[in-house]
Amino acid sequence: MKTVKTIAYKVGSPLVNMGAIKLRQPLPTDGIESVDPFLLLHHYGPYAISEFNNPFDLGPHPHRGFEPITILFKGEQLHRDSLGNEMLVKAGDVQWTTAGRGVIHAEGPSKEFVKRGGDLEGIQLWLNLPAEKKMMPANYQHIKNEEIPIVENQDKSIQLKVIAGEQESKKGLIKTQTQVNVFTVKTKEKGAITISMPKNHQSLVYLLDGEVLINNQVMLKKGAMQMVTFNQDGDSIQLEANKESTLLVLSGKPINEKVAQYGPYVMNTQTEIMEAMRDFQQGKMGYLY
Ligand code: MN
Repeated sequence: MKTVKTIAYKVGSPLVNMGAIKLRQPLPTDGIESVDPFLLLHHYGPYAISEFNNPFDLGPHPHRGFEPITILFKGEQLHRDSLGNEMLVKAGDVQWTTAGRGVIHAEGPSKEFVKRGGDLEGIQLWLNLPAEKKMMPANYQHIKNEEIPIVENQDKSIQLKVIAGEQESKKGLIKTQTQVNVFTVKTKEKGAITISMPKNHQSLVYLLDGEVLINNQVMLKKGAMQMVTFNQDGDSIQLEANKESTLLVLSGKPINEKVAQYGPYVMNTQTEIMEAMRDFQQGKMGYLY
């Protein structure tokens, strides 16, 4: 018999300014520093991209000590990094970077997409690495939309994509460094599903679009409450859609270590942050032009 996890927090998804970019940041947010092992969640767009409006073009920048993950929902991005990867990322694709001891990457709408014009929308997620893996060699994984295993409910009103981890014996293709589940969910109106989650995982549901009732208790709605986090007390969560909706569902075994974060680096101590800044200056994270 499955028991639902009780809800810990419910929050909105406030717009924040990052330079010229305006995006939604449900995590961290008022009262929630992190949902260990998840440190940061950005929801960007939908932006109407054209040659006259192209705000989300991130130039080369470094990372160390965690895994930055991009899930693209709409549009087309070009990914480049200091490992030598250059990949076109299409809607539904996932890029999973293990920054480890250091990587430099850049991403933005592809030239062709900007010329053509269209909506760009995505999720950027920061997943922490435990101390013993923070200095591992960097790695990049890219999976295409059509490769991602799908779990459907009986009346096919819900599609759950297993990006990482496992659901109903479907396994994600991403090789993870920690115990983690990353799912996206698309529902039709009235679609309902119960999702299994290990009891010891911390977990959250984020709504990108639509209107979905969680655990028969909290209504998530675009522009209102958009995220719930759960306690480590049950082994499932329930979704019931009021209309066509899109969600991100995450769970992970907490790392339970001290976090020292500065800019693009996530380490355990301030000294390690200083080392990261120095190593980047000295070119030890590689080069990207
Ligand atoms: Mn980045």
